[in-house]
Amino acid sequence: MFKKILHVLATCLLSACVTSPTGRSQLVFMPDAQINQMGLQAFDNLKKQKPISTSSKYNQLANCIAGAITQETGGNWEIVVFEDASPNAFALPGNKIGVHTGMLTLVDNQDQLAAVIGHEIGHVLARHSNERASQEFAVSQGMGIIQAVSAPQTALGQTALGMLGLGAQYGILMPYSRTHESEADMIGVDLMAKAGFDPRQSINLWQKMEQASQGRQPLEFMSTHPSHATRIQDLERHMPQAMGLFQQAQSQGKQPHCN
Ligand SMILES: [Zn+2]
Repeated sequence: MFKKILHVLATCLLSACVTSPTGRSQLVFMPDAQINQMGLQAFDNLKKQKPISTSSKYNQLANCIAGAITQETGGNWEIVVFEDASPNAFALPGNKIGVHTGMLTLVDNQDQLAAVIGHEIGHVLARHSNERASQEFAVSQGMGIIQAVSAPQTALGQTALGMLGLGAQYGILMPYSRTHESEADMIGVDLMAKAGFDPRQSINLWQKMEQASQGRQPLEFMSTHPSHATRIQDLERHMPQAMGLFQQAQSQGKQPHCN
């Protein structure tokens, strides 16, 4: 154990202590190229396994919202709508976004879906997968974890998918930490506001999620993105800044009409 801590500290001193988009210092030492490769591999597998929605209405809506938001982040992003009634959404390193049709039917408006997508993109921009890999696995398991997503049947493969936030179908839930959730919330709300979506709808969205999660079957989305008591308060406290960005976007003519 002591050796492990020494190893982490040594790696940290060498190169790995970086700063997240919100200014939090992170221990991140896995090569981004390989973490992205993991995301791409997992996304490819999903596209082969899961039916993709052919609804032009849903595809248009999701692409319109993701397009407006990723305009603010730069980079090439791919969004795929999966035919799946469970309300879920995810984003993977390598700039891949997946949305279930069940999420599209759950939200009340484009702004709530923008809040979901912004939050997911926030996890990717803040390199949370890399941070989790660095913290939890790299030291003990070595680079084997990277290849593990190609073998989802193995224990290591399931762990790797859990780390990407995709483990639920294998019964491996690895919820994001409260720190990661808050950070994705802040990044996501600013992003949606900059793209011209009403950031106040993020609060409605999380309230709606919590309500939906109290049904007979808890939402997969909420088990990987756990809510904490101060989430709404934190969002409310952050709202003046987000509203400023929203008003600025509107005055620049950014007024998306996705539905
Ligand atoms: Zn989250």
